[in-house]
Amino acid sequence: MPTCQNCGEKWTWKQTIKTILKLNCPYCGRRQYESASSRRRSGLFALIPLVLLPFNAWLDFSIGNALILPIVIAFLILVVYPFILKLSNEEEPFW
Ligand SMILES: [Zn+2]
Repeated sequence: MPTCQNCGEKWTWKQTIKTILKLNCPYCGRRQYESASSRRRSGLFALIPLVLLPFNAWLDFSIGNALILPIVIAFLILVVYPFILKLSNEEEPFW
């Protein structure tokens, strides 16, 4: 779970989901940023659909399944994201 770099409070999963777009600390209100190392890791999530795509074709999914799959993936990413999210006080350059 992410820890606020300003006040040192640990965010719960629920608090992280609530502020996932803004990343404002629920304790001190300070804006937090995703750290560069955390962003690199979450960037790997973008590869999941690419990995699943061949399986999709292989299993000969119907259009309905093909539409549900991205929703399921997005949901899974949202569930896992707070566990890998690391915070920073400033916006760090990617590399
Ligand atoms: Zn804080």
